[in-house]
Amino acid sequence: KIIGPGGPSDDDRKRDAALRPKLLREVIGQKKVAERLQIAVDASRKLKEPLGHILFDGPPGLGKTTFATVLPNELSTTIQMTSGPALSKPADMLPFLTNLEEGSILFIDEIHRMPRVVEEFIYPAMEDFRIDIVLGEGVNARTISMTLKRFTLIGATTRGGMLSGPMRDRFKMREHLDYYTIGELAQIVGINAKKLNTPVSDGACNEIARRSRGTPRVANSLLHWARIYSAARSDGTISEPLAHEALDVKEVDADGLDKNDRRYLEVLIDVFSGGPTGVEAIGATMNISTDTLTDEIEPYLLREQFLVRSPRGRMATPKAFALLQKPFPKPRPD
Ligand code: ATP
Repeated sequence: KIIGPGGPSDDDRKRDAALRPKLLREVIGQKKVAERLQIAVDASRKLKEPLGHILFDGPPGLGKTTFATVLPNELSTTIQMTSGPALSKPADMLPFLTNLEEGSILFIDEIHRMPRVVEEFIYPAMEDFRIDIVLGEGVNARTISMTLKRFTLIGATTRGGMLSGPMRDRFKMREHLDYYTIGELAQIVGINAKKLNTPVSDGACNEIARRSRGTPRVANSLLHWARIYSAARSDGTISEPLAHEALDVKEVDADGLDKNDRRYLEVLIDVFSGGPTGVEAIGATMNISTDTLTDEIEPYLLREQFLVRSPRGRMATPKAFALLQKPFPKPRPD
């Protein structure tokens, strides 16, 4: 996991859990996604049928877990949570599947990291609420079929593209979460500051929002820092100048880029002359895994147009050169 505001630490996770909205109407932004989920929830209640399986994809910290955890509250049901890497063999699924209640939710985070054997094991569970368990080995092996309670599987992934086609097709709803606007993030900061009993000005909410990389988890982390900073150096309230000061000390710049975003652009521009170059080469120079670059760092740089992906590799844009105060090179004749 990367360091800095982009990667969640255990503290981040605990804080996130405490600040999570409890109901769909408390969720800020992602209006279309929330609307479709509300429709699915209303239908499930009226038809007395479990919610269809749902897949959330999008970069880290945008609310996949948040959406997954509001749904059981809306439906007055329970949720069990696990993650792809924790499910190394089909038997790892059994405690979750046997604990299901009618209409309850099973949430699998990082579902793209679930091994193929586990994936294939849960296909019948998703389709027919049934699993086939093989007992014994070789000629003595026999399969018994077990009927499950009707449940809803919610999967979350940062890499929709890595999920197998058959797995993806078994989700009735597939929802992509996108980065938040500054206005939405400012609203989240204001609400969460209230939950933390910390007075915060509108200007400070905006300042924190602007520097949050479009990501609520980052906004929470920066709010937490500003709160600590104010308690230590001021009177515990967060004014705009204080937010400014606190975030400067944390070295989060005014463009919302964190240290790793900047380093990525510095490597691309200083070492690879702005590209085109492969993501593996950038990762090797930064000593960061390619997965982290493609899942956590590049999506924001692409969206903010600091970076383009071409068939020949990653390229820094004029905006990236301007940010690092470097002259944009004239195009090279090929
Ligand atoms: P990951 O997959 O990396 O765990 P995630 O996409 O599941 O990340 P969450 O843990 O759901 O992200 O979100 C992080 C925090 O951001 C939440 O605890 C919550 O405080 C806040 N948050 C996220 N989305 C929203 C939202 N739409 N409205 C209000 N707060 C939000």
